[in-house]
Amino acid sequence: MKHDKVALVTGGARGIGLGIALKLADTGFTLAISGRRTAEQTHVALEQIRRHAPSSIYVQADVTSAADRRRLLSAIEEDLGRLDVLVNNAGIAPRIRADVLEASEESFDEQIATNLKGPYFLTQAAASWMIRQQQSGPRLHRTIINICSISATFASVNRGDYCISKAGIAMATRLWAVRLAEYGINVYEVRPGIIESDMTAGVHAKYDALIEQGLLLEKRWGTPADVGSAVSVLATGALPYATGAVLAVDGGLTLPRF
Ligand code: NDP
Repeated sequence: MKHDKVALVTGGARGIGLGIALKLADTGFTLAISGRRTAEQTHVALEQIRRHAPSSIYVQADVTSAADRRRLLSAIEEDLGRLDVLVNNAGIAPRIRADVLEASEESFDEQIATNLKGPYFLTQAAASWMIRQQQSGPRLHRTIINICSISATFASVNRGDYCISKAGIAMATRLWAVRLAEYGINVYEVRPGIIESDMTAGVHAKYDALIEQGLLLEKRWGTPADVGSAVSVLATGALPYATGAVLAVDGGLTLPRF
């Protein structure tokens, strides 16, 4: 299913981001992936992606830096010439899980800068470029997808800053969906539950036990490929007339039940 569309996945060289990038590459997108690590440190992931999408690129860019965000989009314009899909995936958990009565301002600032402010302003810049493309060429299906979290609504008092950053991204999805609809740019939120990645490696045993006790309807960890499948449905336009929608990928975790 080869086409010439380009997707940017921030944090696309490992974890959920890599799962998303591989699914999009498999669907025919050329990928731009980004992250804080060097090209050398991420070349194995890029090779994997290039097996399906040979022209794909990696750009070292910290999402919290305005200069890096500008350089990231310029590199994509220079190397690939267009942008059809932005997936705001890069994110961090707090370095220390601290009770809201004690958690530091430094951690709060880092969470907001990485999980909310960075993606918000990357969206602003990418959306402006997408609008120019929609106006100067054919009006195509263009998409922005935010990787949020069940933490947007689940209150975890030992990582309140993370929850607030994700609640903010949920509102950002709505704002951008409203603002960009007139340009034919659809904006969605994907809301994963408990997904196996470096981020959850430290709490694996805890969630193994909870899953065993029936926390989920589907009795297994989610995988980066599960999230990738949801993103590829949205990115390919297979879910029309649904801009602003929230797609839960959580094995039934958030389904209220007795
Ligand atoms: P990982 O820790 O496995 O990967 C995080 C990714 O984000 C890495 O690619 C990393 O790049 C990148 N990243 C982090 N900080 C920055 C930054 N400042 N600039 C650029 N890139 C950055 O996490 P996951 O794959 O698990 O998480 C991906 C997203 O999914 C996050 O937004 C997370 O909040 C969300 N999520 C995760 C869940 C889970 O259970 N795992 C559940 C719900 C949501 P690098 O390698 O270069 O550091």
